[in-house]
Amino acid sequence: MLRAPERATREGSSIEEEIVTIKMKICSSALEPLAERYLAGKRFVLQWLYEHKTTSLKEVHKALYEVLREKFGLKSKLAQDCYRDAIAVYKSWLENPKKGRFPVLRNVSLWLTPKLSYTVDFNTMTAKILGEEVKIVGYPHNLSQYKDFKVKEARLVKRGDNWYLNVTMKKKVQVEKQVKGLIAVDINMDFITLGNDKQVIEIPTRLHDAVHFKKLAENLQKRYQKRWRENKRILNRIRSFHIKARNVIQDFARKVGKWVVDEAKRLNANYIVLEDLNKMISHVKGLKKDYRDRLYLMQYRRVQYWIEWQAKKHGLNVIYVKPAYSSTTCPKCGNKLKGNGYRMLKCEKCGFEDHRDYVAVCNLYGRGSLSLATASQMRDVNPNQWEEPSPF
Ligand SMILES: [Zn+2]
Repeated sequence: MLRAPERATREGSSIEEEIVTIKMKICSSALEPLAERYLAGKRFVLQWLYEHKTTSLKEVHKALYEVLREKFGLKSKLAQDCYRDAIAVYKSWLENPKKGRFPVLRNVSLWLTPKLSYTVDFNTMTAKILGEEVKIVGYPHNLSQYKDFKVKEARLVKRGDNWYLNVTMKKKVQVEKQVKGLIAVDINMDFITLGNDKQVIEIPTRLHDAVHFKKLAENLQKRYQKRWRENKRILNRIRSFHIKARNVIQDFARKVGKWVVDEAKRLNANYIVLEDLNKMISHVKGLKKDYRDRLYLMQYRRVQYWIEWQAKKHGLNVIYVKPAYSSTTCPKCGNKLKGNGYRMLKCEKCGFEDHRDYVAVCNLYGRGSLSLATASQMRDVNPNQWEEPSPF
């Protein structure tokens, strides 16, 4: 029916690492004096590094290990954590091309090695930090999904009067590179359309809800002209509408990420084809003034981000293809399509006719198949680029 994609042939599999940071609030007063000594030790090492212009672990250990133990009262492992921590700070200052002022350490922040400097027990929600038993009083609600992760280093930080333990956790994920199947995802203002060459499903976006909240905020600003800045009550209402708009998009994007991965699994696909956002932005640039378009771009970024995040988590691959004309080209013959009623497109050359979102998915699917099949020659495919989830 459609242009048959060539059989894609990527071989083997690769081991990739999923990394998360779990932020937990802890309750302990006994840590204070120790943290102070650590911070003093870290400042001392940092100064020493600056004077001696070295980052050699061996040299630092030789010169400072005993000092940290005796003068600053740090136990063996913590003394090592302390100078490692200071070296890391020094290195990042050295490597920063703008450099600027030499770092001054103000925040209480301790680097902790797993098992030796701390342990954490997720069953009893307690942790042992440098011999001190502490209670975990706040943690993410979705903690249970990281059960099979390995506990790595942590950072103990103090913000205001509160203590937090930020634990890094890792898990090895085997990602099958050999192409079993693929699905394409087309994201636009009103719908997220996904599927393969045989079936396509459509998810209505929540962009209109977000726009609605933005409008409410804007109306208030208009109605109160200059006064809204001074009136705390109005200011708060405006702010809350903006937050609602953002939350709507955030929640939606997160859910879509999961749905896409579920759908990929259902259709036995281990590759997800997305449009290259950077190439797409230039297409929308002309209309960027309107907040509907700004929200659209935001939604677009987030949806892609969460798709990649979920894909990574479930051992699926993501590839990006050029978006150009994906929704205006005939998937059958490559001719330019013409509008034919509401969201329908028709090819005057071969008679192909379908819904525009379906056309976009078919074209992305075809492009994805092609780029996977020729990846070894063309290098048109970006490997999964993975970073720890972070707010944009
Ligand atoms: Zn055609």
